[in-house]
Amino acid sequence: MQNALSYDVKFVGGVGEARARLLTRELDIRTVGDLLYHIPYRYIDRRRIYSIGEVDESLESTLIQIRGRITGISYSGTGRKQRFMASVSDTSGSTELLWFQGIKWIEKRVEVGREYIIFGRPSFYRGTFNMIHPEIETVEQALSRKAESGFQGIYPSTEKLSHGIGTKAMSTIMTNAWQIAKDGIEETLPEAIRRRNALMPLREALYNIHFPQSPELLRQAQYRLKFDELLGVQLTIQSRRSARMARGDGFMMPRVGELFNGFYREKLPFPLTGAQQRVIKEIRSDMISGRQMNRLLQGDVGSGKTMVALMSMLLAVDNGYQACIMAPTEILARQHYAGMVRMTEGMPLNIGILTGSSRSRERREALEGAASGKIDILIGTHALIEDKVVFKQLGYVVIDEQHRFGVEQRARLWTKNERPPHVLVMTATPIPRTLAMTLYGDLDVSVIDELPPGRQPIRTYRYTDASRLKMFGFLREEIRKHRQVYIVYPLIKESEKMDYKDLHDGFESISRDFPLPEYRITVCHGKMKPEDKEAAMAQFKRGEADILIATSVIEVGVDVPNATVMVIESAERFGLSQLHQLRGRVGRGDGQSYCILMSGDKLSREARSRLDAMCQTNDGFQLAELDLKLRGAGDVHGTQQSGEAFDLRIANLAADTQIMQLTRDEAVALLAKDRTLSLPENSGLRRLKERYASHEKMDFSQIS
Ligand code: ADP
Ligand code: MG
Repeated sequence: MQNALSYDVKFVGGVGEARARLLTRELDIRTVGDLLYHIPYRYIDRRRIYSIGEVDESLESTLIQIRGRITGISYSGTGRKQRFMASVSDTSGSTELLWFQGIKWIEKRVEVGREYIIFGRPSFYRGTFNMIHPEIETVEQALSRKAESGFQGIYPSTEKLSHGIGTKAMSTIMTNAWQIAKDGIEETLPEAIRRRNALMPLREALYNIHFPQSPELLRQAQYRLKFDELLGVQLTIQSRRSARMARGDGFMMPRVGELFNGFYREKLPFPLTGAQQRVIKEIRSDMISGRQMNRLLQGDVGSGKTMVALMSMLLAVDNGYQACIMAPTEILARQHYAGMVRMTEGMPLNIGILTGSSRSRERREALEGAASGKIDILIGTHALIEDKVVFKQLGYVVIDEQHRFGVEQRARLWTKNERPPHVLVMTATPIPRTLAMTLYGDLDVSVIDELPPGRQPIRTYRYTDASRLKMFGFLREEIRKHRQVYIVYPLIKESEKMDYKDLHDGFESISRDFPLPEYRITVCHGKMKPEDKEAAMAQFKRGEADILIATSVIEVGVDVPNATVMVIESAERFGLSQLHQLRGRVGRGDGQSYCILMSGDKLSREARSRLDAMCQTNDGFQLAELDLKLRGAGDVHGTQQSGEAFDLRIANLAADTQIMQLTRDEAVALLAKDRTLSLPENSGLRRLKERYASHEKMDFSQIS
């Protein structure tokens, strides 16, 4: 017998051909099973009936029920402006119901003198309220309808769908779907897991998620379904990981050779921090494990990730392999190139560079050198991904500031070899634990949790335009101490012109406010030619400019230790992790550094929390957690593409950390015993895994 869950949704009572098409088009619901996993995002207590007199502005736009008698009806306007009004009263007061559409339909159903249950959202105007397009039914109808539950689920909908299927219709459809589905629901979890985690059976959970029998049962149902969802995700991720571990096709790099040792003895400009040493050891143990390394290196801005990258690349070269490092911007790639060439001067090491704006000679040298094996380390931007770039023996890939790259871009570096190289993905944007477990669950994680010695915490202040002169005064003082200053303007894709204008207006006002010839100002923005950008950066870096006015092109990686002040204009237009990244441009030397957030007076609550958080902490991890809370997982920097990857319906990556941890542990244990989930008792789990593997929009095994 065909399982009831796979029946076409059109056979559910109340659906039919037209609504089925609508459900499929708008919500991708095709079967009874799909419908069953369409989960309410909110519930209202249908037993609760408000008296008209108690409805106040705190209930603006929330769905409520009132019960009252229609005392009169009226029409106004004509044609498309026509509307239909009904007055309704109970013992405590009266209100108006309004319809702008479907008047022919509703006027037949509203009878003066009759009592109705009215269900809708009050909107207030000058202290009184009305209800626009409420759903209504007679008290007799309401009583005769045998509700499954006193709580009515409110389902996610779309503009188009809500016209075709209202709240009430959706409830009816769900009730009918349940009748078809209830005996076809198969448990997904083995008894032991259910018991260990005190989870209610799946059937009960699905029933209570649609028709809660009590608030407590609803809570348990939600917990159970979140658990299923996250377990499905973890099974997908962890089975990839164990497959990678089992493959054993990682390049062996056992030698610690002349390059690494020579560099360590003679070139290292400072002692490594304990954290840097530890991470290098972790990378090295991966290199001799026989397994391909997939490692995420998290370290706050300024923690010295570049040195880890360089030294681990030297290890790869010591073993006869080539290495490459991909940076997100031209500026950053050039900076890495200059820095690494300088630090390894005199060593038998060939470093090349390739970016989108490499001129013919540089390009030719890079391409030929990579292909022939003459180049040991190739540094570059996205240009490294191009098909033309072929390596003789690429063994090690570093991706800097990974959040700036799309998943696909990263994946393409991977395919440059038949055997995958070891991959180190570096990020200064701390990824909250839950996200890391989901999005990068297949990666091993290293953390640099220690800043180089002598750094003083950056002091962050928030100023409005009224304090602009004070801010300029402060900049003067710092420049007098021979410190350098960044002033950054937002760059928003949609309105590059406007940003450009902001930046230029800013430049002019600063030139006006700093009329003294001894202030040297330089400008750097995305519209400039790469060589001009680079020249401006180089000038600033050499200390030949006191102020660098820039758009957020300088957000990542730029390293000028003498710069101690970061002024961020229109700071409210930046996201939290972007602000933190920008702030990380200062505080890189031993001078006290400052970050000044300029903003307008009128800020949204969210913008205000962001700026306040910046003033309160320098801890990137704390900021990342907060960012996740404020913006939701889908939107956290660098996870835009990845946040929705698993199409979670009920679990929330920000809130459900604990369930995530539990499911991860269960998944690891399950796969250790039954790697392919082929034991009979695990057949439900296999379905669970497939459900989320198919929802997954990208293949994360290819990230790195
Ligand atoms: P990030 O982790 O943000 O990429 P960088 O690698 O750019 O940080 O390093 C920031 C600054 O700290 C650089 O100027 C670098 O030379 C310096 N640095 C790195 N490691 C150390 C260390 N162990 N001791 C002192 N300074 C260091
Ligand atoms: Mg860096």
